[in-house]
Amino acid sequence: MDNIQTKEHVKNEFTKYLTAKNCRKTPERYAILDFIYSETGHFDIDSLCEAMNNRRPRISRATLYNTMQLLLECKLVLKHQFGSNISYYERSYNNDFHHHLICTNCDAVQEYKDLELKSQIQNKKIKQFTPALYSLYIFGICSKCAKELKKKKKIQPEETNSTKTTNKKSITINK
Ligand SMILES: [Zn+2]
Ligand SMILES: [Zn+2]
Repeated sequence: MDNIQTKEHVKNEFTKYLTAKNCRKTPERYAILDFIYSETGHFDIDSLCEAMNNRRPRISRATLYNTMQLLLECKLVLKHQFGSNISYYERSYNNDFHHHLICTNCDAVQEYKDLELKSQIQNKKIKQFTPALYSLYIFGICSKCAKELKKKKKIQPEETNSTKTTNKKSITINK
């Protein structure tokens, strides 16, 4: 299914939901859905607001919040809480399956595709429990931060060395 078909499909799903819920089918709501399904990856409300800012007529923040709520309810959007207080969202339909790698230093989120891990979790039988879906977040340090932390450490070992030398010296003196 290409993205035009995907957009058509989610639009129909949204219409069904809005009709069932007796909610107004405003062009703003459809514009938000269309925008979300034009992108991939994760976003927060602030970045969505900013990205949609150029659109005329402008969409209010209240409309954004309220539409996101509707999209969550009809499961066209997924919500994540990656450790911080900010909620992140992503399209749910026709989105490549992935886990999430979260850097605890810079908060960057990467998609992690591991089909073996996916099937292991999905085939897992749990006693007296029927799983429906799962979400996996792996916290750690991204390669960019690891490099920077390594650079910082390069200064520290010299300090440690000099301390060691001083200690050795003092030991010699003591002897
Ligand atoms: Zn990082
Ligand atoms: Zn994701």
